[in-house]
Amino acid sequence: MKVGIVGSGYVGSATAYAVALRGVAREVVLVDIDKKLSRAHAEDILHATPFCHPVWVYAADYDALHGAEVVVIAAGVAQRPGETRLQLLGRNAHIFEQIIPRIRQSAPEAILLIATNPVDIMTHITFRLSGLPPERVIGSGTILDTARFQALLGELLRTAPQSIDAYVIGEHGDSEVLVWSSAHVGGQGLFSYAEMRGTPLTDDLRKTIDDKVRYAAYTIIEGKGATYYGIGAGLARLIHAILTDEKGLFTVSIFTPHVEGVSDVTLSLPRILGRGGVETTLYPSLDEGERAALHRSAALLKEVSLSLGYT
Ligand code: ADP
Repeated sequence: MKVGIVGSGYVGSATAYAVALRGVAREVVLVDIDKKLSRAHAEDILHATPFCHPVWVYAADYDALHGAEVVVIAAGVAQRPGETRLQLLGRNAHIFEQIIPRIRQSAPEAILLIATNPVDIMTHITFRLSGLPPERVIGSGTILDTARFQALLGELLRTAPQSIDAYVIGEHGDSEVLVWSSAHVGGQGLFSYAEMRGTPLTDDLRKTIDDKVRYAAYTIIEGKGATYYGIGAGLARLIHAILTDEKGLFTVSIFTPHVEGVSDVTLSLPRILGRGGVETTLYPSLDEGERAALHRSAALLKEVSLSLGYT
């Protein structure tokens, strides 16, 4: 099984490393405009493989993506001093306009997994540029936010995060929505479960968790300049789900025809992931505040896409 990674900076290389450690694929090809960088990462990761799994990791050009079942896209540029968010987005959109046709030509069968931020917008652009059906153009979306939400609740309630059904939906960013109202553990509502565990979820506690989930990336970037291990592991997990036809649930971002009164917008909802990509989407039941928040998040994303010229 072959995985391609286009853009092998921090996120791309962390993904390759996580794929190698998990042994998710047999072959990983790294493509980057900076060939020296992709070669260096490929060699470094290859040297880890005798300690984990026999994965062939190498750097090459787009042609080498041929036969890849999944191509991760983590290419992009960083914000320049004085540059607005929209200008940065415009430059990343321009890069995607160049690389998506090349990926499509070399790996026409591949499912595309997008990690470049702002991930919902870049996934929307990829969907439009690729001509692929929505279920095959998947953004990492709020997978990490959901993981953080479950991990924080798990710590607080002394419960394995895997046993907590709690999701973050909408934009991967400031407007994301933590779905508290329908979160549950073993069919029991989260709030009553928390009381049972002796840790009632007070408003203050909820706000603390909400802030920690929503703003986690800022804290990490402040400390080390970038975030990559978490997302790299998350992307490797998605690749595993696709290649094994797992049909597991992940809050990934894909083009969605209708969300809370907003049409044709790309954002995260709980979705079932398998060999064909996203197989189905779930709409968790939301309270009024969460519905309004999801509407705001969707409307914001739609506005940004439109301002870039992508309907
Ligand atoms: P991140 O932290 O998001 O991974 P990086 O800057 O480390 O950010 O990685 C982005 C990578 O994308 C860089 O290695 C850069 O060389 C690469 N890149 C930029 N433009 C292109 C392009 N047109 N084609 C392929 N790779 C590109």
